Amino acid sequence: MGLRLLCVTAHPDDECFAFGGALALAAERGVETSVICLTDGQAGSYRGSASSPQELGELRRAEFAASCKILGVHHHELLDFQDGQLEFANLSEMAAKLVERIRRIRPHAIITFGGDGGLNTHADHTVASAATTAAFHWAGSPKRYPALGDLYQPQRLYYLTYNFFVDGRPRHIPAPWTLTLDIRSVFLCKQDAMRAHTSQTPLMERARPIFEQHGQEEHYALAASIVPQPATQSTDMFEGVTE
Ligand SMILES: [Zn+2]
Repeated sequence: MGLRLLCVTAHPDDECFAFGGALALAAERGVETSVICLTDGQAGSYRGSASSPQELGELRRAEFAASCKILGVHHHELLDFQDGQLEFANLSEMAAKLVERIRRIRPHAIITFGGDGGLNTHADHTVASAATTAAFHWAGSPKRYPALGDLYQPQRLYYLTYNFFVDGRPRHIPAPWTLTLDIRSVFLCKQDAMRAHTSQTPLMERARPIFEQHGQEEHYALAASIVPQPATQSTDMFEGVTE
């Protein structure tokens, strides 16, 4: 048996820049981890050697696979939604794809962005959060997509959040954190995974001061739990979760 964690992201590189600590820590303790990324990142601002959106998508697909391997991710998958256009995508279709995968992977906990869209307030991140939230609540419901596998209800939904603002950037509106992960033991792993995204090297340079100042921790907000409970501070994503 054992515990399973699913991470839903919008772009190749989110899995390490945003969630790398949580994924590496989980893998280290024997949790089976999965990452589903909604797009192949072909609208990225940093394009490496790619001469077309398709080429960038291919390049980033390979970088995503390399990064997931470094983070010890057991299953990774890119879906074919259009990068930069998630706000115009069909929410029901997106939620259905996630429900089908949640029922198949059967994660105990799910992590994704919060409604703020993360540090860079990317609309794709906000939509990933919305679709994942719907899928979390619908995967266990007999009223939703009954043909898409056996019902399954994950126990915890967490949003990534932050305990700081970045100077000179538009301020995101973060959810209050309830979970603080000390990621110092896996920080080198997270950094190696970030380096695997060679097309995003300029981004890594820009992000370096942020990681130097704030890179010891990742913060998450418990957004939903199958057991009613007050918001309390925790350092363990799986505290109270039953296998
Ligand atoms: Zn992203």
